[in-house]
This record gives sequence, structure tokens and C-alpha cells, in this order.
Amino acid sequence: MTALLATQGLKAFYGDAQALFGVDFSLSQGEVVAIIGANGAGKSTLLKCLTGLVRAPREAVHFKGEAIGGLPPGEIVRRGLAMVPEGRRLFPSLSVEENLQMGGLTARKGPWNLKRVYELFPILAEKRDNPGTALSGGQQQMVALGRALMSNPDVLLCDELSLGLAPIVIHEIYAAMPTLVHEGMTVVIVEQDVTMAQRVSRRIYCLQEGRVSLQGRSDALTREQISQAYFGL
Ligand code: ATP
Repeated sequence: MTALLATQGLKAFYGDAQALFGVDFSLSQGEVVAIIGANGAGKSTLLKCLTGLVRAPREAVHFKGEAIGGLPPGEIVRRGLAMVPEGRRLFPSLSVEENLQMGGLTARKGPWNLKRVYELFPILAEKRDNPGTALSGGQQQMVALGRALMSNPDVLLCDELSLGLAPIVIHEIYAAMPTLVHEGMTVVIVEQDVTMAQRVSRRIYCLQEGRVSLQGRSDALTREQISQAYFGL
């Protein structure tokens, strides 16, 4: 099966410092794939290369059969990749509803609109007129996810959805995943919570010091394999 999104031999740099050393990654339509790894392993850098926030060589990233490495982020969003950034990054002066509408500005067609996002996260409908920043961390994360969905992406890239959230809230947010997949969404999650990553994904990539140290089906990998790949034990 041809990959929907793939990197081949992807290298990334911040100035002279190299963060990725030849990462091969691929994703098929309808999959949920998790990227795990310790702090500084390169997970966010990989996502940023996919979305154009960190420059990648053109041929190192392919999406829907086209080379997209290094294209401007706006162009990549228009082609159907959307990112839920680490730390949520809501517009502080805008209401929940306005924040969500910002995601819809790309005018890509698809099933996601305000009504559908409110069905997915009913609490956001109740809080629609509140400033985004007046919400709890979990609710802000729902806005960030909803905003990305509003662009009707083919692939949703989520950077550490669970960061700083209580376990019950993390479960509430990940409970949305089956609905997304049912709608035909393809999802990449970067996640430090390995148990959650294994539970919600079909396949896992583990990064260590900018390289893929392990990959495989989530239900086939053992805790020992994961610990070894994660910490290099
Ligand atoms: P975390 O879980 O802490 O977010 P990560 O796996 O997402 O970690 P990255 O943020 O991708 O890791 O970082 C990979 C490497 O690149 C690290 O060595 C980090 O210090 C470095 N790095 C990340 N962002 C920058 C930047 N803006 N400038 C310079 N170096 C950076």
C-alpha cells in the first residue's frame, strides 16, 4: 500500500545542531500512529518537518505522492495536513468559537464544522463565548484539537495532547479518537505517555537521539522492547 505521508532519510538541523539523523517514517490512510521517545529525542522536530515549521529537503517528505519538504506551512495546511501544537497556543483575546473559526479559514471541504466539533466536545458549546484562556487545560486542548479539525485535514498531527493534564482529562480527550478515525481521519500522535500511546495507536515509532530506535505494531511490542528503545537501556 502506498503511504499517504512519508519521510525518507529525513535530516533536520537547528543551525549547526543536527536533530534528526535519517528518519524513515510512513503512514497509511486511516491509521493512528504514535511517535514516542524521551525529551529531546526529536519527536516535535519530526512533526515540524512534516508541517513546514522546520525546513526539510523537498524530496525527504512526501504527502499524497508529492514532495512537500520545505514548503511553507500555509501551503502544507492547504494540502491537508494540520497540527495540534504542543502547548495549545490559543489566541488569548478570542473566544472559544472565534478560536475554532480561525481553523476554518483554509476553506478545505469536509465533514468538520462548528456543529460537529461541538458534538465531539459538548463542553465547548457551553463555553463558546468565553475567552479560550479562561478554560481549563483540558478544555483548551479540546479547542486546539477542534481548531485543527476545522481545517478539514486529511492528516491530523497531535503534539503531546496529554502534556500537563490529569489522567481523567487525558482519557476524555483520547476518547475522541475513534470518532475521528470513523470519519476517515489519519492521525499521528506524539506522546510521552507510553501506555496511552500503545492503547490508541495501531503502530508505534520510537525515536532516540534523532533516530528511529524501534517501530512496529502497538499490540505486538513488549514493554521491554519499548523501554530499551526509549531509554537505550
Ligand atoms: P520534548 O518531548 O522535550 O518536546 P522532542 O522529542 O519533541 O522532546 P525536539 O523538541 O524535537 O524533541 O528536540 C530534538 C533536539 O533538537 C533536541 O536536542 C533539542 O534540544 C533540539 N532543538 C529543538 N528545538 C530547537 C530549537 N528551536 N533550536 C535549537 N535546538 C532545538
